[in-house]
Amino acid sequence: MIAPTNYSLVTLLRPAEAPTCLLLVSIPGARVPTAVSWRNRTSMPQTFSCTSCGRCCHGLRLSLSVQEAIAWASRGGLVQILCHAAPDSTDISETAAYKRERRFMAKSGDLLLRVQVMLVARFEAACPNLRPDMRCGIYDERPNVCRIYPAEIIPGVVMNPANRLCPPEAWNGDQPLFLTDEGQVLEIVTRVAIAEARAAGLADLEARQSLVALLEIDVAALENEGFVVWTIDRARLISALGDAAVAGASGKADAVMPNWRFMTPRSETAELISSAGAELIRGPQPECVDYLPLYER
Ligand code: SF4
Ligand code: SF4
Repeated sequence: MIAPTNYSLVTLLRPAEAPTCLLLVSIPGARVPTAVSWRNRTSMPQTFSCTSCGRCCHGLRLSLSVQEAIAWASRGGLVQILCHAAPDSTDISETAAYKRERRFMAKSGDLLLRVQVMLVARFEAACPNLRPDMRCGIYDERPNVCRIYPAEIIPGVVMNPANRLCPPEAWNGDQPLFLTDEGQVLEIVTRVAIAEARAAGLADLEARQSLVALLEIDVAALENEGFVVWTIDRARLISALGDAAVAGASGKADAVMPNWRFMTPRSETAELISSAGAELIRGPQPECVDYLPLYER
């Protein structure tokens, strides 16, 4: 087995400005705020008040916990599974530690990996729960990510208004204080939702590992390059999510380290992956698999 830190995949393919907020994953090229003159991202404190514009309820992938995914799919919504992986990192920052704890160990050929499995609610236009008056139709049961936005969930990452969908007037200086000068969220509902989402990310780890084993999911993108998107038949997914939740809660998730394969559209990445001793998907890909690039090629 090759020590993961020996490999250049971690550094060579890590973009300088990788997106950090995966609470709401915009469809690439669909809706990115532009032509807005924002203050420097480190400027704090930050004022904010939601204008109910509804932009954060359109054309997104919402990150869900296992229980939220069961609820979303049971209401008839589309839940997809996004997978990416990378060699383990020696980064000891708070942010890196947070991410590492929420990925499980796996291997690809000779390479040791950490795999992240995300459950996301997918809608191309308006969220199926959005009412015509731009109010949420499942307000009391909405996912935590909807309670958190536009705050940041990952510790050590400063919220950047330029990366949020909210209109300029939402951030006006005469709005209530939202972030303290230390970057702490003031509003209690948001703080509780952040704490719950962080806890679920840890508590769900074994369930997510069990889920991919149950669904025989074993193909991921290289982290920071994209995601492999798995779209599973709804009834099968709900059943597997339920079984995975039970297995995760009982600590009976499969302890065998799974073997993963990588998918990439870039020949340079494929060469690096092969030279690192890892496996690439060969031949026709499964019908339920798609590739979501994070950046324009
Ligand atoms: S669940 Fe509600 S708050 Fe969340 S995206 Fe849908 S309509 Fe918006
Ligand atoms: S995009 Fe921002 S301002 Fe608009 S509804 Fe969402 S949180 Fe509120």
